[in-house]
Amino acid sequence: MGRKKQEFKPIKRGQVSVYTCGPTVYQYAHIGNLRAYLAEDILRRVLGYNGYKVRQVMNITDVGHLTSDADTGEDKIEREAKKTGKTAKEITKFYTEQFIRDLKALNIELPNKFAWASKYIKEQIELIKQLEKRGYTYKTSDGIYFDTAKFKNYGRLGGVGAGKARVWHSPYKKRETDFALWKFSGMQKRQQEWKSPWGVGYPGWHIECSAISTKELGQPFDIHTGGEDHIATHHNNEIAQSEAAYGKPLAHYWFHNAFMVVNGAKMAKSAGNFYTLTDLAGQGIEPMVFRYLAISGHYRQKLGFSKSALVGAQNSLNKLRAVFAVSLPSSSGLTRRSSQKTKMDSRLPLGHELEAEWRGNDKGKVDTTYKKRFLAAINDDLNMPKAMTVVWELLKSKKSLSDKQATLLDFDKVLGLGLKDHKPSAIPAEVKKLVSEREKARKAKDWQRSDKLRDRIAKLGFVVEDTNRGPRISTND
Ligand code: AMP
Ligand code: ZN
Repeated sequence: MGRKKQEFKPIKRGQVSVYTCGPTVYQYAHIGNLRAYLAEDILRRVLGYNGYKVRQVMNITDVGHLTSDADTGEDKIEREAKKTGKTAKEITKFYTEQFIRDLKALNIELPNKFAWASKYIKEQIELIKQLEKRGYTYKTSDGIYFDTAKFKNYGRLGGVGAGKARVWHSPYKKRETDFALWKFSGMQKRQQEWKSPWGVGYPGWHIECSAISTKELGQPFDIHTGGEDHIATHHNNEIAQSEAAYGKPLAHYWFHNAFMVVNGAKMAKSAGNFYTLTDLAGQGIEPMVFRYLAISGHYRQKLGFSKSALVGAQNSLNKLRAVFAVSLPSSSGLTRRSSQKTKMDSRLPLGHELEAEWRGNDKGKVDTTYKKRFLAAINDDLNMPKAMTVVWELLKSKKSLSDKQATLLDFDKVLGLGLKDHKPSAIPAEVKKLVSEREKARKAKDWQRSDKLRDRIAKLGFVVEDTNRGPRISTND
């Protein structure tokens, strides 16, 4: 709102209330959407790391989001229901479950409350009545609209102003910036509709967030979050509704993440340039790799999505995991061989038998110098790129392994990479496969191929050494 970085001061000491605009549940979330929830997850975790008690509410839009932002077109959920022959409830239930599954796969802390728009119809009607009483609404043949000309400072958020706000033309309203609060069902056959003082219909898309946030968090609350596409219209409309109705600010701070882009273009369902977590899994990319990619960038900067960015993230994640797990040739293989006392060790095909061994212990101490630097980075507008630099410097430092582990686990409260839980397969299957191929090449004395494979292994962040017990793998930093 202030167009500058501001010091965060909570409304209630030690507590932070956060409202997050959630998904419209008619399709799978794509990883661009998920970037938004990852940015918010970092915000939450950083607040928690600083000792705040966070209460986060996220709405789930299960009614009223139309295909056109001009408040015309079809309800996205009704349309999907029609297309698939399912009920609107089946659609919203299914995609909400999928959404929550994605959040969990990415180790995103779930909000304290999910609030379904359809469960707050009464509150939304009350809010519209309040706006009507205060003279901010008008009625057309199509519904009840908010009169933006009556609201002083409309478009203040993001400095878009009334003139520059994203606007759409519709024959049903007086002004392009005006927006629907309640839509009449009219001749439409709808599955989800409710009675209201103005006629049978359903709420406009923006009103749910004003009604839910005020009911669940109070007004004002501390931080409102969402993707940057919401600034111009959706959030300015939320502000107009809530502030016109109750004469006080909606939220003290606004937090918007920049887009995830593919070849410079916003990842979007409509553009067709999107991927889901399932698409990534199909290519052998685990959700945590995407998490690493998304959180190591700055939330206000575009995040480029590409194969090479993912490979980089996988390598970095491998290195972090390897701090806790070091690979050794299979221990059973070792015992057998030593008891046999053969001299054939170097010829044994061990590559495919590699195991990771948990090397974590609880003896380490969190290093205060690194912690201070980490904290300074995350507390300066969530500067994650800088925080990651601290992480890498810690890893390269001369600190003991157990202190590195303890410090890294402490940082992982913010990073959320699940480093502690990730014990076994620290060596990715791909690396193991390359190592065993390399062993075959070595046996066949194909040194050229063996060297090539070593390079490929190095590109994945690992070094392979040939010991007389077989190949030993470690990270290459
Ligand atoms: P939607 O389900 O379309 O309302 O979007 C859910 C959230 O994802 C919103 O906060 C959007 O601003 C955000 N979002 C949509 N596309 C992207 C993208 N390409 N990159 C980052 N955030 C996005
Ligand atoms: Zn919203």
